[in-house]
Amino acid sequence: MSKTIFQRIIDKEIPANIVYEDSLCLAFHDVSPQAPVHVLVIPKKPIVNLADFDDGDQALGGHLLWVIKVVAEKLGVDKSGYRVVANVGPDGGQSVDHLHFHILAKRPLAWPPG
Ligand code: C5P
Repeated sequence: MSKTIFQRIIDKEIPANIVYEDSLCLAFHDVSPQAPVHVLVIPKKPIVNLADFDDGDQALGGHLLWVIKVVAEKLGVDKSGYRVVANVGPDGGQSVDHLHFHILAKRPLAWPPG
C-alpha cells in the first residue's frame, strides 16, 4: 500500500510547517487553511481514523488531546477559543487516510458545520 501524504510528512520526505513534534505525534499548519489558524495534529502511528482506533490506542488518544491543548496555547488561541474536528470516513468528509485532528481558530465558526 502506498504511503499517505501525512506519512510522507512524518518521514520528512516532504516539508511541512511544523509547530509541535514529539515521539508520538506531529502538528503542522494545513496547506489549505480554512481559518486564520488551521493546524493538523496527527499520530505518528499509521491509524486511518477514529474508527480504526483499537483498545491499545487509548493512551495515544489521550496524548493527542493533550497535544491539541498545548498547541492551542502555543498558537495563542486558548483564550479566544477554537474548534477541534476529526473527519471520519466518506460521510465525515475525510480526504487523507491518516488520523488527524483539525484545530481551527481566529474567526467565528458557524454551527452546524456543512
Ligand atoms: O479531514 P480531511 O481528511 O479532509 O483533511 C485533510 C487536510 O489535509 C485538508 O485540510 C488538507 O488541506 C490538508 N493537507 C495538508 N497538506 C497536504 C495535504 C493535505 O495540510 N500535503
